[in-house]
Amino acid sequence: MEELENKIRILERALQREKQARKEAERLLEDRALELYQTNIELQELNRSLEQKVSRRAKEIQQQRNFYESILNQVPAEIVVADRNQKYLFISENAIKDPELREWLIGKNDFDYCEYRNISMDLARQRFSKYQEVRNTLKVSEWTEKFSKNGKDIYLLRRLVPLFNDQDEIEMFIGYSLDITNSEEYRLELIEARDIAQKATSAKSEFLSKISHEIRTPLNAIIGLTNILMNEDHNRSQGHYLQSMKYSADSLLGIINEVLDFSKIEAGKITFESIPFNFRHLVNGIQQTFEFRANEIGLDFKVYLDEAIPRIVEGDRVKLNQILLNLVGNAMKFTTAGYIHVHSKLLQKSEGQLRVGFSVEDSGIGIAAHKIDKVFESFSQEGDDTTRRFGGTGLGLTITKKFIEGQGGKIWVESEPGKGSKFQFELDFNYDPNHKENAPIDKAWSRDLSMVEGKRILVAEDNLMNQLVLQKMLEKWSPKLEMVNNGQLALEKLEKAEYDLVFLDVQMPIKDGISTIKDWRNYEAHHLKNRLPVVALTADAFSESKQKVIEAGMDDFLSKPIEISELRRVLHQYLS
Ligand code: ADP
Repeated sequence: MEELENKIRILERALQREKQARKEAERLLEDRALELYQTNIELQELNRSLEQKVSRRAKEIQQQRNFYESILNQVPAEIVVADRNQKYLFISENAIKDPELREWLIGKNDFDYCEYRNISMDLARQRFSKYQEVRNTLKVSEWTEKFSKNGKDIYLLRRLVPLFNDQDEIEMFIGYSLDITNSEEYRLELIEARDIAQKATSAKSEFLSKISHEIRTPLNAIIGLTNILMNEDHNRSQGHYLQSMKYSADSLLGIINEVLDFSKIEAGKITFESIPFNFRHLVNGIQQTFEFRANEIGLDFKVYLDEAIPRIVEGDRVKLNQILLNLVGNAMKFTTAGYIHVHSKLLQKSEGQLRVGFSVEDSGIGIAAHKIDKVFESFSQEGDDTTRRFGGTGLGLTITKKFIEGQGGKIWVESEPGKGSKFQFELDFNYDPNHKENAPIDKAWSRDLSMVEGKRILVAEDNLMNQLVLQKMLEKWSPKLEMVNNGQLALEKLEKAEYDLVFLDVQMPIKDGISTIKDWRNYEAHHLKNRLPVVALTADAFSESKQKVIEAGMDDFLSKPIEISELRRVLHQYLS
């Protein structure tokens, strides 16, 4: 019994403990449930705030997108954005007006568009090729599209621009197009205006070329005959008249040449030669040309030559002569007392190359400071009365500058009104370092021409005055001379008899010099004849370049008025 009571007590105690433990567990559970409940509430709150944040952000993004889209829609251009598969991400209102279509197109491509609009797939194919081009080149593609709208031509400038991701792969494409109809019309108008201007310039050049020929031909006769008369018996006063006549004719020829040179420069037809010439001879020639006039005025005129400059240099002799004639001629024109000094100085000399500095200094009227920058501009003269007082065309210095700069040189001027002017220029020349400085100079005018006697020379020249001039010039060496008026007659003569030398005028009626020489060279080849030397004669320095006549088959070239030294050179070269 006691044992039973004990057991009951133990059990009661165990039950008691059990109850306590359960209570404890229940309390713990309650605590956990409370905690869970709180956590849940916190989570819900967090979720709510996150949802709020996300929707705020989405709203912001939408607002930003609307903002940029409204800007893009305002731009007067058609703008589209496509993904890497050419599917539209954005289309501006200017590109597609219909909002429904615009929305429908997002996520679609140009083929879908053509299908939707039921139009030819050509458009989609063309765009596809442009996308392909950008993919291949990884560069912006640009092209102009022309189409008709309400009977009016519209020009669109289209550009397709790739956008790259961090791996430098194309992520998107931006395409836009601008209506350039106005600027395109303006461009076309400009092209038309340019074409008209070019036509006018070439018409002007052609006109000048013709006119110059017309003026130079009789002028050559005047100069040639004056030269002949000067070499024949005349009394002192006749000699004086002949001098004045020659001076006037030379000045007129100078003006015509200046206008011609200027047209050549304007037409971009100026070329420079590089042939060996005697530098000292050229500089001495300048001295001789102006000595007489300088003495008459009573000027101290000196030409200084730097002995270090090689005697034979390579360059454009004719242009250098013209540059110096022009600068010294100007100095003579604008100096009434004092001096004119011309200097040439070796500035640099390296293997085969020279740079020479020139200066022409005078004590003349000088140039006002505000005019000094303008003297190299065409038709510029210091004052309006300059032409009246001194003559001239206002082209000389423009031509001079072009001649110098065209050969890689430079020209500049310093001047003070009342004190004088100093024009300076630098030019490059080539030279042969192995040339012996003391080798005898081949002076064309000193050559013996006795072998000309009895030689058969044919002259084809339409102008009777020029025939007379050439006849008079050749007469003293007693050749057997024959004259014809055109190329046709020349060919007839050439086919019948043997000649030693032919002078062929380039511009002749019936058959001109160029076509005559071509026919003659053909004839020679077919009949296995030796090549006959043929020298071109031309008064038109403009269109008949030396190269053109040489290419046609001539051997040499004499420009009118024929210089006696040049004639001697030709006779010596082809009849010796
Ligand atoms: P022009 O045919 O009138 O001489 P240029 O082009 O040779 O034309 O010269 C332009 C102008 O520059 C001249 O009209 C003159 O006003 C001025 N000029 C040129 N050289 C001199 C000089 N040595 N002394 C004073 N003025 C000069």
